[in-house]
Amino acid sequence: MKNKFPILISEEQIKKRVAELGKKISSDYVNKLDKPLVVIGVLKGSFVFLADLVRSLEVSCEIEFIEVSSYGAGTSSSGRVKLKREPSLHLADRHVLIVEDIIDTGHTFEFLEDYFVGKHLASFRTCAFLDKPSRRQVEMKVDYSGFEIDDHFVVGYGLDLDGRYREISSVVIYQQS
Ligand code: 5GP
Ligand code: MG
Repeated sequence: MKNKFPILISEEQIKKRVAELGKKISSDYVNKLDKPLVVIGVLKGSFVFLADLVRSLEVSCEIEFIEVSSYGAGTSSSGRVKLKREPSLHLADRHVLIVEDIIDTGHTFEFLEDYFVGKHLASFRTCAFLDKPSRRQVEMKVDYSGFEIDDHFVVGYGLDLDGRYREISSVVIYQQS
C-alpha cells in the first residue's frame, strides 16, 4: 500500500477546493488579460497542485517554474532560503501568480516577494495550497489559499519528506514508524 499515514485532506476535498480556487482566480483575472498571466510554480512541492489548478482555470495562462530550498533534511525549516533555479520566461508586463505548496514560517514567500520586486510585473499575487498560520514568523498576505491546517507535518499531493511521499494523492499527516 502506498499510504500508511492518516489522511488529513482527502482527494475529494482537494478536488472540490481546487475547482473553487480555479473559479475564483479565473474571475479575478478575466478582465485583465490584455497582459498575459504567468502561473509560476515553486518547485518541487507545488507540482501536483499546479497541474490541477491550471486545468481548473477558465482563463489561459503560461506556466513557469522557480526553484528554492529552505528545508534541509527533516521536518523543520532552516529559515534560510536559497534560489536554485530562476524562471527563464521574460516576466516584465505580465501578471504573475506564484503557486506554493504550503506556507509555514513565511520565509520562502518573503524571499519570493523580494525576488520579484523590480521585475516590472503587471501584477503579483500569491496562491498556496496549504497554510499553517500558527507557525508564521513573517507577516505576509496570501491572496488565494486552499486549506488552513493546524501545526502538523504533512506529506502527499506534492509535499515530501526528504524527497519521499510526493506521489500520495491525498494530504496525510507524517508519523514516524
Ligand atoms: P516556510 O518558508 O514558509 O517556512 O516554508 C515553506 C516550505 O517549507 C514549503 O514550501 C515546504 O517545502 C516546506 N514545508 C513547510 N511545512 C511543511 C509540511 O508540513 N510538510 C512538508 N512536506 N513541507 C513543509
Ligand atoms: Mg516547498
